[in-house]
Amino acid sequence: MRVLDQHYINGRFVTSRGSEVLELTNPATKEVIGRLTLGNEEDVREAISAAKAAFASFSKTTIEERISLLQRLHDRIMENEEQLTKAAVEEYGSPISATRGRTVFSAKTCLYTIEALKNFLFEKMSGTTKVILEPLGVIGAITPWNANYTHICNKIAPAIATGCTIVVKPSELSGTQTQLLMECIADVGFPPGVVNIVNGTGAVIGTEMTNHPDIAKISFTGSTHVGKIIARGAADTLKRLALELGGKNPNVILDDADFAKAIPLAVQIGLSNTGQACHAGTRILVPEQRMEEVTSLIRQSVASTKMGSPTDPDSVLGPLVNQKQYETVQRYIQSGLDEGADLITGGLGHPEGLEHGWFARATVFTNVKNDMKIAKEEIFGPVLSVISYRTEEEAIAIANDTVYGLAAYVSSSDLSRARRVASKLIAGRVLINKGAHDDPYAPFGGFKQSGLGRDSGVYGLEEHVEPKAILGYE
Ligand code: NAD
Repeated sequence: MRVLDQHYINGRFVTSRGSEVLELTNPATKEVIGRLTLGNEEDVREAISAAKAAFASFSKTTIEERISLLQRLHDRIMENEEQLTKAAVEEYGSPISATRGRTVFSAKTCLYTIEALKNFLFEKMSGTTKVILEPLGVIGAITPWNANYTHICNKIAPAIATGCTIVVKPSELSGTQTQLLMECIADVGFPPGVVNIVNGTGAVIGTEMTNHPDIAKISFTGSTHVGKIIARGAADTLKRLALELGGKNPNVILDDADFAKAIPLAVQIGLSNTGQACHAGTRILVPEQRMEEVTSLIRQSVASTKMGSPTDPDSVLGPLVNQKQYETVQRYIQSGLDEGADLITGGLGHPEGLEHGWFARATVFTNVKNDMKIAKEEIFGPVLSVISYRTEEEAIAIANDTVYGLAAYVSSSDLSRARRVASKLIAGRVLINKGAHDDPYAPFGGFKQSGLGRDSGVYGLEEHVEPKAILGYE
């Protein structure tokens, strides 16, 4: 059991002034693993004030100095990779098979940002005008629980690269992981105030950050619901906003796809991180005349996807993060049954033998209509909807008939056809015949209610600067 009562502010660990304590549990066993003291408004105001003071000199540092800090952050994470991974497995129930890769990716985010920074022009000419890209100021980063290290590093790296300072409020469900990451950050040797981390709830710390006049920009990753609350709150101070939000991502399996590969891949994409992934392809669109074959392939593929203890290297699926998420998933499964979709695998309750944790059954419905709740709303659990279509045009129309627009997937054996369909899908990222997001320099972000702005590579850097035009260079 860990006592977690520290923030990292102004270059040192400080004890939280808050009095509320949150119990953190291992979702695979329901055991309490830590007690996190949630910070209060005074804690975050102290962090914002430190970040504001640090900005004056940090914004003037050289690119080389900032590259060296990012390199050191990468190195510290890699040196502690095993411990960080273990904490994520314990705190989220995220299977070890995928968790290690995510920890390594969070470190690599620093390296990718370094590469993007090397080619980034902070000054350029536009005709007779000099355009200077100035760092925005203090970034307020608010992150979700589902990949704590990655989200935090993804916020810190572009802020540091561009000469901004940052206050991070991680998800309160990540106290153990956040403590370890703060220790890595403390070892980097950032100048005091440049990187600050404050633990606490969204309602208290997040709201204070959203309203605070000394924060130039909120960089948020989380649900669309909270993204809208932040957008409303940020309006008074006209803060810059980056909102990386939810998705209900379509996976269009065209009739010429190799179904023996495309359907297992679709199941894998849909159940990614036990369905707790913003980019999970949870609406699988298949040709009506192939439904029988699809049903059989899905059943086989779900049956061969092992759900079990997150520490077992063979487990691909683990428990949901907590009781609340488990209950949400149960409600959606019930709603699919009530609305008349056909349950082809999974269903309500725990899988046999996994009653001791927040494990939900990997569930797939066919005969789903795109206006059913299970097809419209982000569930954030292992529940997939299979929707049939008659023509390519209808598939594209169904895929785009959603308020979201984060990711989309297309499978086809004809690459030019797949590319044509991809160009018609309304989503920030479209992946052809693949499920992995393997281009770290490609922009990441959403259309429509999946968000505002882009992460990654040069796109992430551009989100942290403000162009200043100086006229008179003729
Ligand atoms: P969430 O929106 O509930 O919480 C995210 C963060 O916002 C947490 O730190 C939380 O404390 C904070 N928060 C809550 N209320 C707030 C408020 N009123 N003001 C300010 N901050 C507040 O999301 P979650 O459950 O942690 O994560 C799951 C969601 O995140 C899903 O919707 C998922 O799609 C989304 N997500 C998106 C991406 C992306 O890149 N687009 C990546 C991962 C997760």
